[in-house]
Amino acid sequence: RPLRERAAVLDRVHDLVLERQSDVLDLMQIETGKARASAFEEVADVANLARHYSVRARRYLAPRREAGAFSVLTSARVWRHPVGVVGVVAPWNYPLSLTLGDALPALVAGNAVIVRPDPQTSLTMLWAAELLSDAGLPDGVLQVVLGDGPTVGAAVVDHVDHVMYTGSTRTGRVVAAQAAQRLVTASLELGGKNAMYVADDVDVEAAAEGAVRACFSNTGQLCVSIERLYVHDRVVGAFTDAFVRRTAALRLGSGLDYRSDVGSLTSAAQLATVVEHVEDAVGHGARVLAGGVHRSDLGPWFYEPTVLVDVPPEARLFREETFGPVVAIYPVASDDEAVAAMNDSEFGLNASVWTADTRRGAALARRVRAGTVNVNEGYAAAWGSVGAPQGGVGASGYGHRHGREGLWETTRLQTVAVQRGTHGPAGLPGFGLRRLYELGPETWTRVLTELLRVMKRLRMP
Ligand code: NAD
Repeated sequence: RPLRERAAVLDRVHDLVLERQSDVLDLMQIETGKARASAFEEVADVANLARHYSVRARRYLAPRREAGAFSVLTSARVWRHPVGVVGVVAPWNYPLSLTLGDALPALVAGNAVIVRPDPQTSLTMLWAAELLSDAGLPDGVLQVVLGDGPTVGAAVVDHVDHVMYTGSTRTGRVVAAQAAQRLVTASLELGGKNAMYVADDVDVEAAAEGAVRACFSNTGQLCVSIERLYVHDRVVGAFTDAFVRRTAALRLGSGLDYRSDVGSLTSAAQLATVVEHVEDAVGHGARVLAGGVHRSDLGPWFYEPTVLVDVPPEARLFREETFGPVVAIYPVASDDEAVAAMNDSEFGLNASVWTADTRRGAALARRVRAGTVNVNEGYAAAWGSVGAPQGGVGASGYGHRHGREGLWETTRLQTVAVQRGTHGPAGLPGFGLRRLYELGPETWTRVLTELLRVMKRLRMP
């Protein structure tokens, strides 16, 4: 199908996902236990991406012209072709964003797509496949396969031309090795231990409100959510008071409405990690300022949003990702100390800096080793800037989603160089490279040497 038709499918996906949102909000809440507002983030995200790529795909996929080897005689053009079949192996925490969100750019680039959703959230993906079909995607261009990671997920990795994998760092290493065996590329969005710095000049209430959203959205089961809070000495008292007050006021619940702020954890395994991390930290001397309670009265896997202080480096959650509603506050004495602490991690996915001086914030942000840094926001500013790439460094993986880079992950490059002048017009002899070679190697190598010198003198690229 021509690009125009592919883009039109995305255009309709935008409208349909907004129109039918109440169905998929219910489904996502039932499958994951998340709060409805967190589920809505996925609906908004997919609509945002669908619009973006339907408008921008043509520009992102346009061939590029480059100066040829011999400026007038050679022209080079770089094309982007779809790789073929893209495999999306997705986790359970954002069942719409991390499936459709990866499938849409791959489809508009001209690929076919196989999605293996997490077994816990298969219904959401099946719903999404139906929506794509209603939006005009031809039959079979997107297929959904259901099953566990080690067999069905691994089988997808074994058959596709590019892998989009989202999940833990541990599994990411397995997927990367498996893709490497077949010499196919992989984009890996893995874990994080994301940090926020609250500088000494902030409005503490605004920063505390932002931090609450950044730490506890989606019950903290968000790859880009904040688990480490570094707060300047001068505001740490006031900030901590405001943050703890706002955290304790969060409403927990699992109703299919907007009355709760924080939902349940998604599985017994997630709850077990959260309980283990908090107990281990407390065992090492940490203090609990809010939460720290398993709320089985609300549902089997509810856990109160939890704020810890005095967490020593020996505690597991000092470095390891919890992937739950748990955050530790650490005081720092300066911007430099904050940057050093933020960068003291094997991960590098997302970070946040709060300051009244946005120029200082942006300058600090550039010193943080993370794929995205949000100034005066936790994660949504960067994630929602869908023209800009999103991805991690270090143990957080490689490759990107969003923007031109996200689309380009599912394309392969081809350079077509056209040599002119080898055939003269209307039967006359050409004047191209053949003439040069006919001068004999002693002459043509001298000519070429001079030509290279001239190109350098003219600063030709
Ligand atoms: P996990 O690695 O155990 O599982 C993630 C997914 O990978 C699951 O759907 C699983 O079925 C699949 N999988 C397992 N083994 C596989 C294999 N051999 N081949 C292919 N697929 C396989 O992680 P989890 O504990 O279920 O998920 C939480 C982790 O995912 C956290 O560490 C979190 O940071 C990460 N995550 C990252 C992002 C991101 O965008 N960076 C988003 C969501 C989750």
